[in-house]
Amino acid sequence: MTDARADAVADSFQEIIGAAPAGVWAAPGRANLIGEHTDYNDGFVMPFALEQRITVAGAPRGERTWSVTSVNNDDTQSFGPDDLVPGMSGWQSYVAGVVWALEQDGHDVRGADLVLSSDVPLGAGLSSSAALECATLTVLADLSGLEIEPMARARLARRAENEFVGAPTGLMDQAASTLCRAEHALFLDCRSFETRHVPLDLASAGLEILVLDTRTPHALVDSEYATRRASCEAAARILGVSALRDVDAAGLDDALGRLDDDVMRRRVRHVVTENARVLAAVEVLGEGRIADLAPLLDASHASMRDDFEITVPTVDLAVETARAAGALGARMTGGGFGGCIIALVPAGTSDAVAEQIGRAFADAGFGAPAHFVGIPSPGARRLG
Ligand code: ADP
Ligand code: MG
Repeated sequence: MTDARADAVADSFQEIIGAAPAGVWAAPGRANLIGEHTDYNDGFVMPFALEQRITVAGAPRGERTWSVTSVNNDDTQSFGPDDLVPGMSGWQSYVAGVVWALEQDGHDVRGADLVLSSDVPLGAGLSSSAALECATLTVLADLSGLEIEPMARARLARRAENEFVGAPTGLMDQAASTLCRAEHALFLDCRSFETRHVPLDLASAGLEILVLDTRTPHALVDSEYATRRASCEAAARILGVSALRDVDAAGLDDALGRLDDDVMRRRVRHVVTENARVLAAVEVLGEGRIADLAPLLDASHASMRDDFEITVPTVDLAVETARAAGALGARMTGGGFGGCIIALVPAGTSDAVAEQIGRAFADAGFGAPAHFVGIPSPGARRLG
């Protein structure tokens, strides 16, 4: 198999380390097809992995220390066992966090030299952080001869992000980066960790998914995320359930009647209806009715905009313009307050739809967005 990105990173490794790598591995970024802010409510999500990925060349070292070079920021960082302290700063904390999580789990991690390169946009909500963790985990597990089940790998990568880096994320990103398959989305039950590979053969349906990065600088993301989370947890306590996952669509009206805060009611309505939309999406995809995803995407966006209030003007304009330009359906993807949208569009029309969004952005005085076609791709793996 020829893989230009693998060859390039192997060449970089040779140049920087002065020897050939023992192998090349990769782990992708992801877009969430549907299921937003449901993960920390023990609910359902359905991401798919992107072609965009972190590609990493690695070789074992004689001693138990690690060096990692990112071609993207042209930086090399080294650390040893004594440096593995949660709260480490810098981009290398995602790599060190994986070593730490593996060791916390009782694994013996070999020292290694790593050189990586990425085409996942950073900080765009496509989970470059999970790609970095999952790529690191895959290469280090292989070099150390560790046999770890895929879901256990995802949970270790999440632990690195939560406990070592200090970002309180759900399991979705690491599960997607580890477990996804080409031409499939990944259904994940965030309570039971049950997964299902759901067919998403866009080409045979004559469709494609446009991923458009609004490039809106994220503002207030951490504090808004925290208040949404707190509101959901408070609502679950009032309703006497362990998480909002336990309220289903049939019980929604009753639950809303027991809450007297209007904001909280709307937060609950988003989570409950979004969970129902994920289950509906699993059903339509299972029956090969990909076009029927469109109204679910639209309803998800309206719910995020009106009930959960996590969209921003650039994101709303991108979604509206995508629809006006011929998208069957569109929604913001990711945690919100900026980031990316996805739009289900006829095959071959992504550039034209993105161009119209670019024009609408210019008219509104917004900066130029970026875009690509989101191709459901495999999760973390060894390339050669
Ligand atoms: P997202 O996951 O949405 O892309 P995050 O803020 O969670 O955004 O993660 C982005 C961070 O991950 C970057 O600021 C950097 O620290 C780290 N990172 C991701 N990819 C790379 C890379 N290729 N090289 C160096 N650091 C990276
Ligand atoms: Mg991230």
